[in-house]
Amino acid sequence: MMFDDLKGKRVLVTGSTMGIGLAAVEAFARCGAKVGMNGRRKPADLDATLKRFNSLGGEVEFFQADVSQTPACSKLVDDFVARFGGIDVLINNAGGLVGRKPLPEIDDEFFDAVSHLNNRSAVMVTKRALPHLTASAKASGETASVIMLGSIAEDVGGGPGAGLYAAAKAWVHIVQKNWVLMHTKDGIRFNTISPGTIDTPFHADKDEATKANIAATIPMKRLGRAEECAPAFLFLASHKASGYITGQYLGINGGQFLE
Ligand code: NAD
Repeated sequence: MMFDDLKGKRVLVTGSTMGIGLAAVEAFARCGAKVGMNGRRKPADLDATLKRFNSLGGEVEFFQADVSQTPACSKLVDDFVARFGGIDVLINNAGGLVGRKPLPEIDDEFFDAVSHLNNRSAVMVTKRALPHLTASAKASGETASVIMLGSIAEDVGGGPGAGLYAAAKAWVHIVQKNWVLMHTKDGIRFNTISPGTIDTPFHADKDEATKANIAATIPMKRLGRAEECAPAFLFLASHKASGYITGQYLGINGGQFLE
């Protein structure tokens, strides 16, 4: 099986009740991993989702936490470790626009909300997870892996009212450079996945015509699907597959942005 070293690995995916994170949880469960699914609220269909995921060969549990709040970040990591005994892979997937505000409308509250959801969350979850990731690498002799979520927005500047979001995504991707310099010694790898336009609830504010217009600008002439991001997470999580890859940035965008 591809990525067979993920079997039994303890994987925490923040913001994973929908979209890209949810598809990642499913993919890790299929690999036999122990996976933490997280959201601000318990989804209505949680029991059915967990039942389905837990029949795939792994173990999936839901952890409620609003990662835009620092105490909740700490509690999320602590709860996950209490359940699974450690962390081998952390995916800082939670993120979003919060809203769309052009520069003249940006106030402190909006600025803080965008940065707390997209930036502080990743810092505080990673900070709390650091000793566990270090312990994982030490015990296994393999690397632990942290995956950040960038966005094509950081490459192209973001859509209307999404300037702070675009900058926030660039920020998480850049901060990993420092973490690579400081924590490679601890056996931890850091990489960023940067989706293009992936058809998830993230784009719920767009009608079909708008989506079709975006699709027309993409060389592949369609939006991406959440399931098409999941294998990249598996790859970057797997020591066997990517043990010498760190500090990198991987676009998943159908050619929408060309490096
Ligand atoms: P989505 O809006 O469909 O899902 C977001 C998930 O995050 C949900 O599970 C939600 O419950 C969770 N979440 C939101 N706020 C949270 C909070 N405060 N605490 C805990 N969980 C929270 O988003 P998506 O499209 O799946 O995007 C996932 C990641 O990829 C995000 O970081 C997003 O910025 C990034 N991204 C998405 C796209 C895209 O086109 N969909 C493009 C580039 C980057």
